[in-house]
Amino acid sequence: MSKHIAFIGVGNMGNPMAQQLVNAGKQVKVFDVSEKAIKIAKETGLNVVNSLDELLSNSSAVISMLPEGKHVQELYLGENGVLTKISQDSLIIECSTIDIETSLKIGDHAKSLGIKMIDAPVTGGVMGARVGKLNFLVGGSQEAVKLATPILEIMGQKILHAGEQGSGVGVKICNNMSLGISMIAASETLMLAKRLKMDIKKVHQIVKEASGNNWALANYTPIPGLTDGVPSNNKYRPGFTAAMMKKDLKLANDAANSVNANTPLGKAALKIFSDFCEEGDADTDYSGISKKIGGDTWDYPFDPKGKD
Ligand code: NAD
Repeated sequence: MSKHIAFIGVGNMGNPMAQQLVNAGKQVKVFDVSEKAIKIAKETGLNVVNSLDELLSNSSAVISMLPEGKHVQELYLGENGVLTKISQDSLIIECSTIDIETSLKIGDHAKSLGIKMIDAPVTGGVMGARVGKLNFLVGGSQEAVKLATPILEIMGQKILHAGEQGSGVGVKICNNMSLGISMIAASETLMLAKRLKMDIKKVHQIVKEASGNNWALANYTPIPGLTDGVPSNNKYRPGFTAAMMKKDLKLANDAANSVNANTPLGKAALKIFSDFCEEGDADTDYSGISKKIGGDTWDYPFDPKGKD
């Protein structure tokens, strides 16, 4: 019997990632603990199994895509966890955005059992997952990364190897701290221009060509009518939620505290996104932070929970 890929966590990201593997002709079995995720997985044609034992028996690789470090720790290191059930020739590809410490703890344990593991969190969001164009930020040995690459290439467009185990989540955390700060900077820039009664389209065009440009301003513009296909043009329906950005900024803040790194803008961004979430906008796309920054400057439609 040929070996299959075991996919754990088929939520918003995991489901389309697993589907890319199936579409590429891979044998894939999936497992989740949520009834909703299982129902959607079945509807979308994924081969859902009922237990970790069934999932892991005769698997060649394990891919996980879970919400947070505590879930990932329990999955791998818990009593009857994955590491008690797989053989030495299995490869672990852990894709969740989690803290470096948990990633290292699992990686060290796997290594002590002779099991190869990489951490491979992603950028590109649900849209990237649906079209197989994620970017994988990878940490692990050259050997493990080489083994994982043919699988990652099915789900992603760029495989960016950052260093040893834990480096993938490390670079993801640093990247998203920068992204959270940049989204606020883009929102402040456009809000100021509007308050100065400038032509907002011209300001956007010019800053994109000038030294004040950043990725959020140019490609994920937080104000409607300036860039096609972004959540600001779709009433701020996500996309990438404010709750997720808050989670990543918290990871960055905890990481900074753990090494005594001075990150005042990272801390300010965490506070701004936390307040936004507490005010009822956790499910809004993170570019909706422009509403909080701009206040009554803007009168654009804002309906993140609406349904088309
Ligand atoms: P999600 O909540 O939609 O999916 C996670 C799934 O994991 C859920 O279906 C949940 O039931 C399942 N799960 C939790 N514990 C489990 C366990 N022990 N066994 C089996 N299944 C379990 O989350 P998501 O949006 O798919 O995000 C997953 C990860 O990807 C997160 O770490 C997130 O930060 C990261 N990420 C998300 C995006 C995005 O745009 N959604 C972008 C980049 C990175």
